[in-house]
Amino acid sequence: MSYRGAVVDLDGTVYRGGTLIPGAAAGLDALRAADVEVAAVSNDPTRSPTAFVERLAGMGLTIEPERVVAAGTVTAAFLTREYPEARLFVVGSSGLEAQFRAAGCALTDDPLGTDVLVASYDRGFDYDRLTVALRAIEAGAAFVGTDPDRTIPGPDGPVPGSGAIVRAVAGVTDREPDRVLGKPSAETASAVARTLGVDPAGCLLIGDRLDTDIAMGEREGMTTALVLTGVADRADLDDATVQPDHVLDSLGEVGTLLDEGT
Ligand SMILES: [Mg+2]
Repeated sequence: MSYRGAVVDLDGTVYRGGTLIPGAAAGLDALRAADVEVAAVSNDPTRSPTAFVERLAGMGLTIEPERVVAAGTVTAAFLTREYPEARLFVVGSSGLEAQFRAAGCALTDDPLGTDVLVASYDRGFDYDRLTVALRAIEAGAAFVGTDPDRTIPGPDGPVPGSGAIVRAVAGVTDREPDRVLGKPSAETASAVARTLGVDPAGCLLIGDRLDTDIAMGEREGMTTALVLTGVADRADLDDATVQPDHVLDSLGEVGTLLDEGT
């Protein structure tokens, strides 16, 4: 089939940790050779599009920052639109705070002066931060998560991701977040659609997670391909409610889908 656009996940699909996954560069080349518009999409909330461009450049890959849809960007856009003038308390990384500042958001350290509590991947997360989150939300702050990834791949195995922090805050406050951005949210899907300018029906989504990548692609009417270089393996497909249209050993095999039916 010929696709006009491709939505390509990064961590677990193009690279793992800081290492390029074998075949990924060839897969991206195959998409471009077939005149497929590529958008890179990531639930890593710590990096701006420019930081992703630099990370990819270090692996020999070229992409324009306008072609990167990242959880931090999508969250900042959501907050400035839905909560203009809001004071944010960020339980998250310094990289996320820098993105919020660059977007013109106001940050606060005062839980009782917080309009929106943002929960995200935070290596400094501890009892005191959980206490602040509890008090901010009990005082009436909205509760927003950057992305739902419960774990992220680490060099020695999975480590807690934003989803773990969001759930900790949800647990102590006994309430669900008002919104969680990143994949598979509608906000991220809209950002992808704007980036590609292509009808979702003509898009191929390639990612390593069933609950975020494949779920978003399926809901948006895209063709989906699961790669086995990241979080999911074939055994995960047995009891999954979301099923991809294709399963690829790696992004390097994406050319087999582009050739289909032509
Ligand atoms: Mg991934």
